[in-house]
Amino acid sequence: MERGLVFNIQKYSISDGPGIRTTVFLKGCPARCWWCHNPESQAPEPEATVMASRCLACGECVAACPRGIIGDGKQSPADCILCGACVEACPPGARTLAGTAMTTAQVLAVVMQDRVFYEESGGGVTFSGGEPLMQYEFLRSLLAACREQGIRTAVDTGGFAPREHLLEIAGLADLILYDLKLMDDRRHREATGLGNRLVLDNLAALGQAHGAIWIRVPIIPGVNDDMGNLAATARLAAGIPGVRQVNLLPFHRTWHAKLGRLGRAMPDNDTATPSRERMEEVAEIFRGAGLTTRIGG
Ligand code: SF4
Ligand code: SF4
Repeated sequence: MERGLVFNIQKYSISDGPGIRTTVFLKGCPARCWWCHNPESQAPEPEATVMASRCLACGECVAACPRGIIGDGKQSPADCILCGACVEACPPGARTLAGTAMTTAQVLAVVMQDRVFYEESGGGVTFSGGEPLMQYEFLRSLLAACREQGIRTAVDTGGFAPREHLLEIAGLADLILYDLKLMDDRRHREATGLGNRLVLDNLAALGQAHGAIWIRVPIIPGVNDDMGNLAATARLAAGIPGVRQVNLLPFHRTWHAKLGRLGRAMPDNDTATPSRERMEEVAEIFRGAGLTTRIGG
């Protein structure tokens, strides 16, 4: 039985594919987008987090930590041995470890609890991340287990994976949610830490192999919302045979709060959430290319 690292299982989701869904978030991503709404997804190993707004300043975690690294500016993620003692000790649950080892059977047991909702709503299970293909064997096993149970599945990927892995995974999934950020390789590298050649080549191959692809474009003001990039993204998506719709995901500043919980610095910018009017303007660019386009997941 395969085993992998899961950092969240979100029930009753209505934004990661059709109907009511359970979204299973797998840990690990090779990209480092500063706007990531799941920064706890990026590292491939578990991480200790603390939600300052829940902390009672009771000091239980300070006493429990065997490394003595909690309190008064001493917290250093690099010195944490992920023992979980602070999580156990924390009365209000302000401390967590992001990333739990689970088997395929354990994940399946959770997602099966809501089978009736999937059947009633045309929903299913979405595997997201991070980049879920970083745990390719675990993902393959999860998809096969869902298929055996007759549960429909989606995979949300940024395309950062070997082609053969992507195509094999696509063969087991009913829907692929494919993230596109920037068309220019240099700008893509600056924004995410990775070039986009693999992403675009993988999408071209996927478009020939799979007939249900939704393109997801995060709209990040000042990063990828210029006319040149949006028009190029729309043109590319319109030319991929398997693309059924485009989802435009507006940037939200609230995503940054999670960085603080991980003890990481906030991005040094004042990027704001795009207005509804601006999102409608962006949507018109994609609709003008003949694409069914929705704002939101
Ligand atoms: S998980 Fe890290 S911070 Fe928490 S008690 Fe263990 S070593 Fe200390
Ligand atoms: S144990 Fe929890 S509530 Fe108490 S000081 Fe630590 S983080 Fe805050």
